[in-house]
Formats: sequence, structure tokens, C-alpha cells
Amino acid sequence: MISYKELGLVNTREMFAKAVKGGYAIPAFNFNNMEQLQAIIMAAAETKSPVILQVSKGARNYANQTLLRYMAEGAVAYAKELGWENPQIVLHLDHGDSFETCKSCVDFGFSSVMIDASALPFEENIALTKKVVEYAHQFDVTVEAELGVLAGVEDEVSAAESHYTKPEEVIEFATRSGCDSLAISIGTSHGAYKFTPEQCTVDPKTGRLIPPPLAFDVLHEIEKKLPGFPIVLHGSSSVPQEYVDMCNQYGGSLPNAVGIPEEQLREAAKSAVCKINIDSDSRLAMTGAIRKHLAENPSHFDPRQYLKPAREAMKAMYIHKIVNVLGSDGKAA
Ligand SMILES: [Zn+2]
Repeated sequence: MISYKELGLVNTREMFAKAVKGGYAIPAFNFNNMEQLQAIIMAAAETKSPVILQVSKGARNYANQTLLRYMAEGAVAYAKELGWENPQIVLHLDHGDSFETCKSCVDFGFSSVMIDASALPFEENIALTKKVVEYAHQFDVTVEAELGVLAGVEDEVSAAESHYTKPEEVIEFATRSGCDSLAISIGTSHGAYKFTPEQCTVDPKTGRLIPPPLAFDVLHEIEKKLPGFPIVLHGSSSVPQEYVDMCNQYGGSLPNAVGIPEEQLREAAKSAVCKINIDSDSRLAMTGAIRKHLAENPSHFDPRQYLKPAREAMKAMYIHKIVNVLGSDGKAA
């Protein structure tokens, strides 16, 4: 048993309470390699923003859970080295798919876990979430649950169609499961292809696809049912056109990649939404920068030569999200 407290990490309880009150959201960035983690920590340290480091099942399969945990421990020390005296860093399991997975993360130093039983019937979702909550709370680890189904593909999470969260179910779900935060479905979706061209309208000026708006009416109804309760948005990359263009310009093929417009995320961050998950944007920034560097420098073969600009691109993207979209800068000074 390793307690996250010994690793210098924090759970989400206090940070979410402050975010809901303050009208901003905490960034939850996925990581599965060193450059990504460095970029996240540099961005958070520079802006003094609380940050959630997320590890998905795909990341654990790719990089090894134990190694990722030690990297998160190193991240706390690294943040202090960068001059962030009181780093507020959460290590969170993204989309835990079973009690056993969640337990193993609680036992090995994660400070927060998500149990995603949203594909199960309502009663079974409550029962499994409650089981995870009862275990995790013994160790002061916070638990995120999910109600409703998001469309899209991310690692091993996928669904063809989304089903919005039903506001009439949230009180019973939150009360009986005891979860600390709730991921809801209001039209966000996983991956870099959040909407088909048929679902979008076309901007007559630029020819770019404009996605359908998020269901803010559903969000506001949920807020009314559960005043002050922390709400989470998954699948909230904006799929920045500059990185999509960079990928496409230098040999990539990402036609019609489309995300959630940042104005909508900015609006959501002001509500009870206090955690916004961003993964694809980092992948796009990294891949765009690597493609550009290699295309312009065909003789380079030292990974550091192309990973350095990739890291810089990710860091700039993370800072942009923190400062201009989520408003979490300066909240962990
Ligand atoms: Zn997700």
C-alpha cells in the first residue's frame, strides 16, 4: 500500500470545491510519456494552476502503471524545482473499468479514480460506483463516476451514439453512490473526430465545419438538481485547426477533424463544471510539431531534436487552455 499523500499528491475534494465557487475549471490532461508530462508540469508551474494528471487504460498498457506512478511522484519534485512551492497535483485514473482496476490504483498511490460504469444499467452503475467509493474513501481517495454515454473513441472507450445524462436521475445517483464528482454527457465526445460532417454546419467564410452546440440546458438542469456538486466534462478537446493544418501540411491526413469550440468550454468552466478533460489536443500539437520538424530537417534522427519542439508546442497549448479557456491560472499559488 502506497499512500498518495506520501508522494506529495492531493485528491480533488478541496480543489473542486474552490473551482465550483470560483467559476473556473481544473485541467485534466492525459499523459503517457515523459515529454507530455514535462510539458504539463512546466505549464502548471508557470501559471500556478492546479492540475490533474490522468492515466487511461491505454496509457497503462502503453507505458506501465508502475512507471507512470513514479513519473507522477517525480513530477511533484520537478514542479518544486521549477519554483512552484505548493504544487497541487492530482494523479487520476481515467475510465477505470472495474473495481479491481480502481483498487489497484488506490493501493499504489493514485489520489483520485474514475469508475466508468456508464454502460451498465442505472442500478448496476450505482452499485459498482458505491463499491469503489467505499473502498477509496477509506484512504481519502476521491471518486469520479459517469452517468450518460459519450460518443466517440478514446483508447478502449467507445460508443457509436451519445445519450445525454438525464437530469432527473442525478440526485438519486449522486446520493446513493456517494461519488465525489460526476461526469455527464451533454454533447462532448472522445477523440479528434467528435462530429461527422453531416452533424455540422459549414462556416461560409472559411469553409470549416462548425459542430452542434453543447446541451447547456441539460447542464443547467443538472446544476439546479445538485447545487454546487462538481461536474466533469470528458472529450473536451477543441481540436485546434492550426495543429490539424500542421499535420496535414506535413504529410498527415486528418480530414474533417473537429472538436468542441473553446467559447463553449469557457462558458462551461464558469458553471459547476470543475474538471475538463483534454487529451486529443496534446496528441495533435505533438504530432504536428514532429511532422513539421522532420519535414524541415530530413537529416535529423536524434529523438531529442524533434521531441523538443513537440514539447514546446504542447506546453504552449496547455498554458493557452489554463489561462484562456479554463481560468485556473493563479489558483494554486
Ligand atoms: Zn473520457
